[in-house]
Amino acid sequence: MYESIQKQDPVLFQAMIKEAKRQSEGVELIPSENYVSQAVLEANGSILTNKYSEGYPGKRYYGGQENIDAIENLAIERAKELFGAEHVNVQPYSGSPANTAIYFALLNFGDTVMGLRLDHGGHITHGLPIAFSGKAYHFVQYGVNPETGRLDMEEIRKLAQEHKPKMIVAGYTAYPRDIEWKKFKEIADEVGAISMADISHTAGLIAGKALESPVPYFDVVMTTTHKTMRGPRGAIIMCKEKHAKAIDKAVFPGLQGGPHENAIAAKAVAFGEALKPEFREYAAQVRKNANHLAEELKKRGFKLVSDGTDTHLILVDLTNKNVPGKDAQVALDEVGITLNKNTVPNDPRSPFDPSGIRLGTPAVTTRGMKENEMGKIADWIDRTVKAIGNADELKKIKEEVRKVCVTFPVPGIKI
Ligand SMILES: *Cc1c(COP(=O)(O)O)cnc(C)c1O
Repeated sequence: MYESIQKQDPVLFQAMIKEAKRQSEGVELIPSENYVSQAVLEANGSILTNKYSEGYPGKRYYGGQENIDAIENLAIERAKELFGAEHVNVQPYSGSPANTAIYFALLNFGDTVMGLRLDHGGHITHGLPIAFSGKAYHFVQYGVNPETGRLDMEEIRKLAQEHKPKMIVAGYTAYPRDIEWKKFKEIADEVGAISMADISHTAGLIAGKALESPVPYFDVVMTTTHKTMRGPRGAIIMCKEKHAKAIDKAVFPGLQGGPHENAIAAKAVAFGEALKPEFREYAAQVRKNANHLAEELKKRGFKLVSDGTDTHLILVDLTNKNVPGKDAQVALDEVGITLNKNTVPNDPRSPFDPSGIRLGTPAVTTRGMKENEMGKIADWIDRTVKAIGNADELKKIKEEVRKVCVTFPVPGIKI
């Protein structure tokens, strides 16, 4: 791997090889991560990075665009087919710039918007007070029901009627349950709000027909392309034709300059993969694995927010285990199981050392792991949390983890 880097830049090479080893010898449970295919890697690392192409296909500001236009149009057409979208912009550099572009396109500064609180599973771009979204717009934040851990649609309806937002944002970062898109759209219509769905986490499951899609109902739907979508780091914005002009203008020249055509080509590859029947099997297996892992964790006394999952994502409240989320994350890192500490709804602890951990199955499912491996993972997590401070036991678990992982190759890693 990486022959030219090895020759030219041994310091960087060492770090990259160590990371490749980490990715292949450990269990990746961060729900926003995945392993992309060799073809996605090739497109993303290609000569397309050399080209400037400000503008859109057929309307560029630099010469030499005949191939670039074809590539960008391919990404657009595949995304349209995959999601059934009327209009698609494939240029956003990532999820946060995509959300910023949507707000910039369709709102005025100071307008009222509704989004889920960060500590209940929302994203920083959904109105965190110290973030651009929270400073530029008046976000009214909704929460989940403290008893059920689920969205309370009647509460959301009441808030919408009281605050009359110009936009309602649905779609989350740490919410394990399916979302009632139709109901959200109904509420948005009742108060005359623009409906915006951020499906960054679940786009792959929606594209793979394992979850219901908001695209038929919502004014605007955006997603990152690097999570369950299994493409390069980046994002796309889909919208109804009536918003197309405003969205395109906000992305370029409103917010961004030259698009990253290497990433756009890699998006085209990923959408092509997602259009194949195998991707439906993948999406279904991601959910089966998450559900099985959730049940295996519950058997071992772990308390799950909302008591389970409908998606790829599980949120564990470790309070009854007397282990803070941060200590669990650190110990699991030591055995080669990567996940992240996370707040649980109404967390009494601080976001830097919250009560929970967040995990998910997109990456392990890409490697071909199934229910049998989910049982092993639950067991390793249980034993690790109990063995905090016991270096011998942690070392033993690490070796077990490595032995299983190396039998499930990671695309693009040959070491
Ligand atoms: C990941 C995520 C984003 C932002 O994506 P970046 O590419 O990290 O900027 C936005 N919204 C949600 C719900 C996400 O989960």
